[in-house]
Amino acid sequence: MVVGVYIIFLNVALIIYFSFREGLRGGYISAGSAILYYFYIVYTRHYTGQQYSSGIATIVMLAVLYFVIAGIIGSLKQEIDILIDREAEGKRRLESIIQQLPVGVLITDSHGKLIQSNKQIDKILGVTIPIGFNFNTYKSFLIDMNLNKSQISLLNQIKTGKTTLNKILSYERSDGTKLLLRISTTQIYNQAKKLIAAASIINDITQQKALERQKDDFLSMASHELKTPITSLKMFVELQRNQLAIKNSQKAKYFNDRIFDQANRLKELTNDLLDVSRIQTGKLHFIMEEFDISQVISDTVEGLKDTTKKHEIIFNDPKKQMVIGDRYRIYQVLDNLISNAIKYSPSNSKITVHATTEQGKVIISVQDNGIGICPDQQSKIFDRLYQVTDPDVKTYPGLGMGLYIAKEIVNGHHGDMWVQSSKGKGSMFFFSLPRCA
Ligand code: ADP
Repeated sequence: MVVGVYIIFLNVALIIYFSFREGLRGGYISAGSAILYYFYIVYTRHYTGQQYSSGIATIVMLAVLYFVIAGIIGSLKQEIDILIDREAEGKRRLESIIQQLPVGVLITDSHGKLIQSNKQIDKILGVTIPIGFNFNTYKSFLIDMNLNKSQISLLNQIKTGKTTLNKILSYERSDGTKLLLRISTTQIYNQAKKLIAAASIINDITQQKALERQKDDFLSMASHELKTPITSLKMFVELQRNQLAIKNSQKAKYFNDRIFDQANRLKELTNDLLDVSRIQTGKLHFIMEEFDISQVISDTVEGLKDTTKKHEIIFNDPKKQMVIGDRYRIYQVLDNLISNAIKYSPSNSKITVHATTEQGKVIISVQDNGIGICPDQQSKIFDRLYQVTDPDVKTYPGLGMGLYIAKEIVNGHHGDMWVQSSKGKGSMFFFSLPRCA
């Protein structure tokens, strides 16, 4: 009897084992074999009557129990297998995506140990960083690989694992090739907000930067080439205009004035192109001095009043306020803001300029009642060559350089520029400048 109970439990253990190993098939085969074995015992012992019928009833009960156990454990095992397969497939897919990305990828765990990288990173760096390499304790690697200063600086960048976006770093490969790399590193947290990894994306932008420089050089050269003939054209037209004024020929004077205006416009455009190229190449320099900003505002307003008979330009705060900056460049910023206010406002509307002081700063504003700017465009209008693309704004001429240059000039003065605007109601542009102590 005791042996029989042991056999029953031994069979249960076997069924569990085979169900776990082989799934449903293994479970059912082992359950079936155990039941057949029980039948074999009943028949070989030649049970009769009561003994026979209770033996058969026990076998049926055990058969139900064994097949249920085999069914539950076997199907659990198969589901676990499917989940593991799916996870492995997902991991494989992710790995092959990372391998084939056209940018270099380095993924470290929370201790700075490299857990994944791709072929592209080896190609860019000219050195293979082995999986398991610890960015926090890499001294022996430096000695083994004989890394140069720029390579160490790059490793330090990744070591921190701190989120950095589009940081540009000069890099020199061991063979002496010089590269410009753009690096973005981001920390990755799990749902419990625990740091689990850091991923760095490294892009070789050497060629792209070389092309950009070529374009900027071209822009600079083209603007210089254009500027010389335009300046002499303007000078000759002015001389001729003076001559015509003496002879008093109205029609000829009218045509001459238009030529003069157009030459002026061309000069402004080439100046803007030159400024954009100076900003791009870091060559926009300022001649800093102390000056009265109210005087510069009054001069700009007076100068622009002659360009429009349809707008009223008012400057409300003409009291002396000394600031530090490049007088000519600040004049250029004001000229751009007021000219835009004129350009983007209907006739007969008022343009108001204010200058107020606030905590070591002077804040200058130019307000118009013009077409206004939608909220989603307001931050973009300060970008290089950005123009609003609404069909109703498209009709205004321009190249989208003015506000970009103006903001760069103000930033170069440690000031800021911003806008408040309401579509259809008007805009108010602000900029701040440091006040003299
Ligand atoms: P643009 O030469 O096109 O005027 P800017 O850089 O000066 O270039 O201006 C960029 C864009 O900002 C313009 O295309 C225009 O849509 C918008 N903008 C600038 N000033 C105003 C204003 N006062 N009112 C409405 N829109 C403006």
